[in-house]
Amino acid sequence: MTNSMVVKKFEKIVGKDNVLSEREDCYPYSFDVVEQGQDVRVPDIVVLPENKLQVQEIVRFAAQQNIPIVARGAGTNQVGSCIPSRNGIVMHFSKMKSIIEIDENNLNCTVQPGVIVGDLQKEVESRGLFFPPDPSSLAVSTIGGAIAQSASGSRHFKYGGTRDYVIDLEVVTADGEIIHTSSKTQKNVAGYNLTQLFVGSEGTLGIITEATLKLIPKPDVRRILLAFFDDLKDSARAVEAIIRHRLRPCVIDLLDEKTIETIEDFSHSGIFRSAEACLIIEVDGTEIDVADQIQKINNVCGDYNVSEIKIAQNQEESDKIWFARRQAFSAVTRLNFDVVAEDLVVPPSKLVEMVRKIQEISRKYDINIAIMGHSGDGNLHPHFSLDLRDEEQKHRYQLAELEMLDYAATLGGTITGEHGVGVVKKPHMTLVNDESNLKFMRMIKQVFDPKNIFNPEKIL
Ligand SMILES: Cc1cc2nc3c(=O)[nH]c(=O)nc-3n(C[C@H](O)[C@H](O)[C@H](O)COP(=O)(O)OP(=O)(O)OC[C@H]3O[C@@H](n4cnc5c(N)ncnc54)[C@H](O)[C@@H]3O)c2cc1C
Repeated sequence: MTNSMVVKKFEKIVGKDNVLSEREDCYPYSFDVVEQGQDVRVPDIVVLPENKLQVQEIVRFAAQQNIPIVARGAGTNQVGSCIPSRNGIVMHFSKMKSIIEIDENNLNCTVQPGVIVGDLQKEVESRGLFFPPDPSSLAVSTIGGAIAQSASGSRHFKYGGTRDYVIDLEVVTADGEIIHTSSKTQKNVAGYNLTQLFVGSEGTLGIITEATLKLIPKPDVRRILLAFFDDLKDSARAVEAIIRHRLRPCVIDLLDEKTIETIEDFSHSGIFRSAEACLIIEVDGTEIDVADQIQKINNVCGDYNVSEIKIAQNQEESDKIWFARRQAFSAVTRLNFDVVAEDLVVPPSKLVEMVRKIQEISRKYDINIAIMGHSGDGNLHPHFSLDLRDEEQKHRYQLAELEMLDYAATLGGTITGEHGVGVVKKPHMTLVNDESNLKFMRMIKQVFDPKNIFNPEKIL
């Protein structure tokens, strides 16, 4: 079947306005946030379905014709996960963005995949409810992308990530069936956990057309504290002590010296000041509980040579801190032509060792690396700032990345905690998965997608 016949077929299914087939219109869909010189392909067609039946019809047709389909939310993933590897179709979910139901009695909501994470959060919070997963990209990234990428963020330490809030998924499978992976109940152990197979599957097992997500009551109060340390080691010891004292802030983020400088230069917030490390600690709960925890955290930081503590006095100050923190990626992009936001995890007790290793790698390979991360989880995001057009720099980066990920693995850590695998981390999968693991993963892919039409060549 020729491309123009396929276009006609899709126009019939979703309407003319929802099909793009001119090369210049499809070109932007060849990229996502990180372009590291992969062999990118422009999709032949971009379709924008408006409902699940249209998705089903497109999938059935594509499967019949062996045409690959790459689902796409906002394209903010950092691992090349929605870059088409073989032309074919990109299915963009910008027209499936309804919040279908917020069930206040049963504490859940049902949404279409194109709903923006931040929009959902605002909507449920206006009703006294809370959807905690908070990727820094939440102002633009979608629920479909968050589920498929198993996104999380700063609040993971207390609340967990997207994975912990998905109750049920409606999925169009490779043979064009529409299935529900579970029920809308809070508990369900009737069989294998299909839901969690789709969470983090990066669009390789099926297309999510609806998601039911758990909600919890919104905490009464939130408060942020910034703790500056002249010695990185002290900041890590303070984090360990906070955990040991059974305190449970919702956020304990770490910024290293370079990150602090870069963020402040970019945001001119006047909040951050020179230090070897800064912890952003957010506490939430009832007014009394929050005041008590802030006091205790203040004392713990005092025990570990904190050089300054700043406590946000009102919402405006808190917003200013979060704005600056969430702009970290943008801030680093100003330093050079490219930025690669890495993602690795080590046991929290190995954090200092890992940070020191990254600093050593930065010197060894002569690459600027700004280190930030969710220290309570041992999850670090070293941001490499460099020019990947320069082959020699690219080579140095590749060596540095491998050495860093290998070291994380030897510390008992892993190569990604929230960004996923895509194409970027695919070559490193063997650092943390043995052949038996990979064999079972391949078998799962084979069962769900025997013709390999969903997002081929990702993860495995
Ligand atoms: C500045 C910045 C900050 C970030 N901060 C964080 C962070 O703090 N934590 C974090 O975890 N991530 C973070 N990310 C990464 C990224 O934002 C998340 O992975 C996000 O959840 C991706 O959502 P998206 O809508 O952009 O998905 P996309 O990038 O469009 O797609 C991601 C994956 O989901 C698949 N997909 C999309 N929709 C569907 C669907 N309906 N059915 C099946 N598969 C689908 C795609 O095929 C792809 O494999 C950040 C990215 C940036 C640029």
